[in-house]
Amino acid sequence: MILKENELELGTNKCNFCYSNLNNKRKVYSAQKLPIVNYYFCNECYVCFSNRQPKDTSLEEIYSPVNYSSSLTSSDDLTVKLAKRIAKQISIKKDNLKEIKVLDFGGGNGNLSKKISSELLKLGYESKCTVIDIHNSIQKDDNIEFVNAKEINKIKNKFDLVLASAVLEHLKSPKAILDKLIQLTEKKGFFYARTPWEEPLAKFIPNYKLRWPRHLFDMGGDFWNKYLSGYNKNKINIIWFRPSIIETSIYNIFKFLASFVLKSIAVIELFLRNLFPKKNPSKIPYFKLVGGWEVLIQIK
Ligand SMILES: [Zn+2]
Repeated sequence: MILKENELELGTNKCNFCYSNLNNKRKVYSAQKLPIVNYYFCNECYVCFSNRQPKDTSLEEIYSPVNYSSSLTSSDDLTVKLAKRIAKQISIKKDNLKEIKVLDFGGGNGNLSKKISSELLKLGYESKCTVIDIHNSIQKDDNIEFVNAKEINKIKNKFDLVLASAVLEHLKSPKAILDKLIQLTEKKGFFYARTPWEEPLAKFIPNYKLRWPRHLFDMGGDFWNKYLSGYNKNKINIIWFRPSIIETSIYNIFKFLASFVLKSIAVIELFLRNLFPKKNPSKIPYFKLVGGWEVLIQIK
């Protein structure tokens, strides 16, 4: 999709995530030529970002439920797989039985929340969900409350599980939201995020397209490592730090296999390097063609 001049905000001289100056960046990808929109890599926070962003009016149209549905809310297989993994991990770490309060930022029609609730129930936990998004497309469900994204700062209570699955990259100012979501995570609660890491793929594969104008950011392992290092080790415990779940349906067999192989190479590399942690202490693979990254942290 190509946006016209009147659909774009003015270009910025700063990184759109950490707001450091653009003299500390390098161009990695051209999103469109007329008017020019480029993605740059920020050498401060290691995010990759588009130097121009769509105006709010353009975003309204791009994300109107008529034009947009995310892979997670539309694919049941993927949602169930992710819900199972998250619910299982939480049940291992949770120390007392009670109702789990779930906050799903960018949760769309509430599909992920519903699936996590049902997986938690199988494991013996009741849950109550709050979905935050720009449009309410949730079918009536007494277990799910909807909050408009504009009202996020009115939320005062904390949650046992906060989700930001494939959403941060769509935001114009993700840092404030990311900080807020971690703040909203209860002590001993969990924060999960999944973001694209496609910049290495765009460098390697000719004609690979970053998902402009929906993805305004690309946030891989390097970014998450830097971001999480800003938190005191006594405050958070990193449980998952790894290539994200395969997003492609198995019915798209070629893409599914490619995704499986690429992610597996990185996982095997990390596994082998972790056998000798003193020689190769790193959580980020040299092999970065994984397409996406996921983190699960627990607040201490
Ligand atoms: Zn930055």
